[in-house]
Amino acid sequence: MDSLQTSLNNIQNRINRACASVNRDPADITLVAVSKTVNVEMVEKAYRLGIRNFGENRVADLAEKQGSLPDANWHMIGRLQTNKVKDIVGKTCLIHSLDRWNLAEALHKRAAYMEIDVPVLLQVNIAGEEQKAGVSPTDVDQFLQSIPQLPRLKIMGFMTMAPLESETEEVRPIFRELAEIRKRLYHIHIPNVELRYLSMGMSQDFEVAVQEGADIIRVGTSLFHGS
Ligand SMILES: *Cc1c(COP(=O)(O)O)cnc(C)c1O
Repeated sequence: MDSLQTSLNNIQNRINRACASVNRDPADITLVAVSKTVNVEMVEKAYRLGIRNFGENRVADLAEKQGSLPDANWHMIGRLQTNKVKDIVGKTCLIHSLDRWNLAEALHKRAAYMEIDVPVLLQVNIAGEEQKAGVSPTDVDQFLQSIPQLPRLKIMGFMTMAPLESETEEVRPIFRELAEIRKRLYHIHIPNVELRYLSMGMSQDFEVAVQEGADIIRVGTSLFHGS
């Protein structure tokens, strides 16, 4: 069998097993194929296998690949500089990496100019790592309370990244904490805030993320490089 198909089957089996262990429906998990390390031909191949959601961490790469596959759903998952905002708003189904207030303002300004809404996830730095982007868990409430000032911004949930070198089980408390923040704030009524999605889990740790409540997982290496 084709190796991409084999990898995809493996990932689907891993998702299914993780879901079964906590009584979740695998249909509720969205797989975002992180295509940042592969070329357009590979992305097209994945599309032919039925993958419809792709993630990129650089604006230029996203724009280029989207040009070849406009029918797919494109997710921006990487750090976003404010001077790139004009090149990304309107191109993505979801920006996972809203990590600071001035970026929120820049996204809103561009979206207002284009007269469109921009759906985003608030990136939360649960582990508190210096080098990682994201608002601190203690600042989430205040950030959300300020969102109505930027009416073109639609907060659709949260994203987090676990520390890279951790053992699989060490990331569980991080994913659990993000799920708890969502649960605590789920029913607050703030215009333009609807905490529908948790984007968490990558190749190394997506089973744990699924067990802890991930709605969206972002998988690159396991899919495209088969490990
Ligand atoms: C690269 C990347 C991923 C995918 O990581 P893999 O370990 O290759 O699955 C997920 N999320 C973000 C933000 C990334 O930059």
